[in-house]
Amino acid sequence: MEDCLFCKIANKKIESEIILENDYFLVFSDIHPKANIHFLIVPKQHIKSVDDVMDGDELVLGKIFTTAKEAAKKLGVSGAYRLGVNVGKDGGQEIEHIHMHLLSDKTRKGVEKL
Ligand code: AMP
Repeated sequence: MEDCLFCKIANKKIESEIILENDYFLVFSDIHPKANIHFLIVPKQHIKSVDDVMDGDELVLGKIFTTAKEAAKKLGVSGAYRLGVNVGKDGGQEIEHIHMHLLSDKTRKGVEKL
């Protein structure tokens, strides 16, 4: 999707603070953090929202949890974080590219960027 902000970030056309990348996801810091630690787990594949998930998306979306777990470990917040997904404008979704928020109230320690 050419006009999608998160597609541009996922394709590294726009800079972000990346802490984890795998075949399916990029994990980067939220520009307006709502907790001490606030990262976004964003699939490289464009899916608009949970309402637009199709049969066949299970593989990538199943991996969102293993990616979240890895990101939490890297951030040093295992066992002390929240995950959230907003769905639709009325559900608080601002960016129309499916993503999961990873938030923690733990204090951020020196996390190495990728
Ligand atoms: P949502 O409201 O669930 O769609 O979440 C979108 C999130 O993206 C918000 O928390 C924004 O602060 C964040 N955001 C918007 N633009 C950027 C950006 N360029 N880089 C990082 N995070 C962003």
